[in-house]
Amino acid sequence: MFIFKHVKDLRLFLARERNQPHSIGFVPTMGALHKGHIALINRAHEETDIVVCSIFVNPTQFNNQADLIKYPRPIEKDIQLLVKYGNNVLLLPDEAEIYPKNYEPPAINLGHLTSVMEGKFRPGHFEGVAQVVYRLLQITQPHRLYMGQKDYQQQVIIKSMIEQFSLQVKLITCATVREEDGLAFSSRNVRLSSAYRKKAPIIYQALSSVTNMLNKFSIHQIEKKCIALIDSKGLITEYFKIVDPETLQEVNLKNASKLVACTAAWAGDVRLIDNMIIEIPSV
Ligand code: AMP
Repeated sequence: MFIFKHVKDLRLFLARERNQPHSIGFVPTMGALHKGHIALINRAHEETDIVVCSIFVNPTQFNNQADLIKYPRPIEKDIQLLVKYGNNVLLLPDEAEIYPKNYEPPAINLGHLTSVMEGKFRPGHFEGVAQVVYRLLQITQPHRLYMGQKDYQQQVIIKSMIEQFSLQVKLITCATVREEDGLAFSSRNVRLSSAYRKKAPIIYQALSSVTNMLNKFSIHQIEKKCIALIDSKGLITEYFKIVDPETLQEVNLKNASKLVACTAAWAGDVRLIDNMIIEIPSV
């Protein structure tokens, strides 16, 4: 595996690959890699010639300094894992490489997509995410960009950014990879106490319960029931929202064929997010 710390060197390398011509698949991450990340790398491998993964804990997307400081950074382990799964190129930049002094970030209009759910509870988060993904796409210029459904709102926002700037990249959203008990893999899971680790699958159980409640309760009632279920285990739900999968706005059940349930909950001092697409059976 080639490891690049400098953008200039990576650009030269990738320009040569593009001329071969080799297609480039890009998997941006913040490291502390797990099976969810590996699923993206594997999918990129199936569909492109050269897989580029980046590990960069982007400070501009953290609205909470403590979360940024506590974010796990097991870089040696990450490198071993990437080698094991045949990743071709790792971009491991420091902050000055991503945001050099003369760098002017573009004005990205994310509109109403950022005013709900994660955007509401983490002000500035998605502006930071869009900024870093834009910059990383500018550096790597991949044919395909791989992201996880785990961060549902994030991939909707990146899709919207790609459209806004007519970027020549195809976004591939990969299904959420879960532990056997349903808990979605997350870099933050390592910070869960053993007591909270046992309770955390309640998030998946709440998401899984939505479908069966659809013909009995209103959306608002289902949201309330799911919050009560998660909180009954001692987690604290920040939001549980059932919305339109594209606009992320409230839906009228009568006209909808698909919904997405998204939630964030605190398990002690660890904030977990998850979601599930809900197909509405046609009658
Ligand atoms: P992160 O390192 O948390 O920024 O995540 C990097 C990419 O991996 C994002 O596109 C995430 O959506 C994706 N990802 C994280 N966890 C999972 C998971 N459990 N299943 C699938 N994709 C994931």
